[in-house]
Amino acid sequence: MDAVPLIAAIGNTPLVELALIREVAPRARLFAKLESVNPGGSIKDRAVARMLRDALVRGVLGGRRLLDSSSGNAGISYAMLGAALGVPVTLVVPGNASAERLDRIRAHGAELIITDPLEGYDFALREAARLARDHPERYWYCDQYSNPGNWRAHYDGTGAELLSQLAPLLGGAPDAFVAGVGTGGTITGVGRRLKEARRDVRVVAAIPDTFPGIEGLKPLGAPGDIVPAILDETVIDERVAVSMDDALAMCRRLAREGLFVGPSAGAFVHVACQIALRHGCASVATVLPDTGERYISTGMWQVRQA
Ligand code: PMP
Repeated sequence: MDAVPLIAAIGNTPLVELALIREVAPRARLFAKLESVNPGGSIKDRAVARMLRDALVRGVLGGRRLLDSSSGNAGISYAMLGAALGVPVTLVVPGNASAERLDRIRAHGAELIITDPLEGYDFALREAARLARDHPERYWYCDQYSNPGNWRAHYDGTGAELLSQLAPLLGGAPDAFVAGVGTGGTITGVGRRLKEARRDVRVVAAIPDTFPGIEGLKPLGAPGDIVPAILDETVIDERVAVSMDDALAMCRRLAREGLFVGPSAGAFVHVACQIALRHGCASVATVLPDTGERYISTGMWQVRQA
């Protein structure tokens, strides 16, 4: 298909205001970008479209397959855009990725290599790097953990959009921004952009307290954890641990208000409320990376009727 309309549909996502923060921090306002409206259903479309565009402009593929590791959402973006652009794709994905992700990746015709879920994202990353090293004639390694197109997509896109959407509401950047770290693309790109606009924006990383825990987020901090090369740790002012239970409770709460989002979004909103209270913020911004529909098979929505 003509990939232009698909790529043009990525980004420029709506900004929603979440009034629930007032229950915790009465004078705070919380704004969130609804990333599930991207054609691949998640925030990862932004980074993947940028990295793929850069690769095609530079002509680095040379007829080879695009290879990367992913927690699943980036895999969907690669598979979708690869299908649209005629680029063959191979993905290394840990087995804890939800069935919805794995099925959709296969539906777009990408080749899937599934690794042990208990080994985590770092193992999938090492496996992709090994394949790239062993078979340079077969694969071009996109490497979203070290590809600068990843954070730049959020600097030029997500971060810039936030600033222009918040300008009429707040007159500029928010007091705080909350995200997590999968590859670090979102927090690095948005964090840098917001801090250029306002030096004292507090950038907060929501860090899951268990693994495998919140899909898409790395725990970081344990000895041996791979710190993504593109992650700019100097942009992070504060790290806040968040449990799966708190993330899921917030997802269910948001669903009752009409927002159907995945666990990382629940984690970010939970942390945003805490931060507003702790620091007396008047405004907090975050992203809602994907849709709750991507997690039906995990059972997280099997709530009993009251
Ligand atoms: N939430 C979800 C659901 C994700 O799939 C990802 C990407 N792994 C993230 C958050 C983190 O985004 P980033 O890779 O930009 O750090």
